Amino acid sequence: MENTNLPNISSDKTSQDLSDKLGQLDAKGKEKDIEAKAESLGMPYIDLHGFPVSIGAIALIPEETAKQDHVVCFFYSGKEVRVGTSEPMSPQVKLISDELKEKKHVNVKIYLISDDSLNFALELYAKVPKYKEVVGTVEITQSDVDNFQVEVGDFDDLQEKVNTVNISELVTLLIASALKTKSSDIHVEAEEKDVKVRFRIDGILNTVAIIKLENWPKIISRIKLLAGLKINVDKKPQDGRFTIDLTEDKVDVRVSTVPTSYGESVVMRLLRSSAAGLEFSDIGLRGKSFVDLKHEIQRPNGMIISTGPTGSGKTTTLYAILNKLNKPETKIISLEDPIEYRLEGINQSQIDHSKDYTFAKGLKSIVRQDPDVIMVGEIRDLETADVSLNAALTGHLVISTIHTNSASGAIPRFLAMGVKPFLLSPALNAVIGQRLVRKICESCKVEDPIDNDAMTKILNILNKIPIKSAERLEEEVLSNLKFYKGKGCSKCHNLGYSGRIGIFEIMTMNPEIEKVILSEKVSEFEIQEIAINNGMVTMVQDGLLKAIDGLTSVEEVFKVAE
Ligand SMILES: [Zn+2]
Repeated sequence: MENTNLPNISSDKTSQDLSDKLGQLDAKGKEKDIEAKAESLGMPYIDLHGFPVSIGAIALIPEETAKQDHVVCFFYSGKEVRVGTSEPMSPQVKLISDELKEKKHVNVKIYLISDDSLNFALELYAKVPKYKEVVGTVEITQSDVDNFQVEVGDFDDLQEKVNTVNISELVTLLIASALKTKSSDIHVEAEEKDVKVRFRIDGILNTVAIIKLENWPKIISRIKLLAGLKINVDKKPQDGRFTIDLTEDKVDVRVSTVPTSYGESVVMRLLRSSAAGLEFSDIGLRGKSFVDLKHEIQRPNGMIISTGPTGSGKTTTLYAILNKLNKPETKIISLEDPIEYRLEGINQSQIDHSKDYTFAKGLKSIVRQDPDVIMVGEIRDLETADVSLNAALTGHLVISTIHTNSASGAIPRFLAMGVKPFLLSPALNAVIGQRLVRKICESCKVEDPIDNDAMTKILNILNKIPIKSAERLEEEVLSNLKFYKGKGCSKCHNLGYSGRIGIFEIMTMNPEIEKVILSEKVSEFEIQEIAINNGMVTMVQDGLLKAIDGLTSVEEVFKVAE
């Protein structure tokens, strides 16, 4: 017998493996043949297996035409279209590409592809939502939003509507409802049996609807189409965005998808341009804190740092400060990662790590632009800290954020980065510590009785408010404290809260703190004690004073500050 060297292929598994391998070799051979054919015809060739085909591209040619004439569109950049065909001599293919050229005002390039590639691309049509013409009509308008907002009164309405609208409208319905409830994010998560929709309202996730699992592939295709994501990529995370132009506002929707065990999950973050217009006087600073910070931001130089964990409103506070300082005679430059809101009259610059445009490098070039005020998105390394401090010491007001839990924690954090105490001490003007608490809904506010244990704890905190702050409450007030909560109504979607407000502690520099910094034996606790002796009201004290004013609940305050 010939072929005595062949391996033993008697077991089924091995024989399957071998035939798979031979099949792959065969497919590879075929692709090689097509490539050679393309070369002889003088046209480009492509293997579409694994090529990231966008839904916008595939949908440029109707499915019927594609199947009948063996032609698919696999790339569309807005300027250029690439089509692939297995029938390079077909007059139909020429006709189709000429039509595309005319309709879309693009250059069209025709590639030779194998039958395998063609079939692979044709399968992608299953993921294309059915529209008359997909590209160009995919947008969400004010009237779409208005229609749904009228129809959806509360979350029960939303759940009912979710089951009745068609799939192309479903995404619009979710966005319209999210805008109506002032949600910041829409989470759509595929789970084992269904798809859960959650809205983040005032920082808290609320389940608002359940979608049937079978509808998920089409919904996610619709979202990907809106956000310009690759439709056939579902094993890797993707990021994209789209904009909704409303009459009075513009909403930037940032979309991110991640693969999960039950399919992809999507988060859509809604950024309203009007949200950046928060006034300095509206962020929730009161009494001495307001006076102190207002004074510090009006100084011509030095550094102001905002601290807090992610989601504590640090950036909003910086924007409010910039809004207050934004005058024609003041030059303001910001360095951000990412730019969250566009502010008129401010030169905003975006960090780009891929081009090595870092906070430190950006800062060095910004200083040469002769600004009065510089905003640095975040200080997280020694180089950025050093350049920022130098700018603050040479006639610029620098505002930035740093990731610590309290105002007094900022100084040890700087020193731990390696900042020289003799630079930090004269440069730092003030540190803001902050958290966000939900505001009680004004329409359903009722008194909330507090038990004895909680009251003892509250009084203990309030009694430590420093005399110098002039915020201490009279004995008479303390012995008759009242607190509130929202019992839930239609205006607040039964949540009892509507909107958020900051609770703050403002630590300003003084000779005692400077002395501690220079001694190099810095403890957060010691700095906190000095600041309190000098009249700093702490975050938890500020929060409880706001609860006494009926702005928020005791529960909210203790959730974020102790
Ligand atoms: Zn209410």
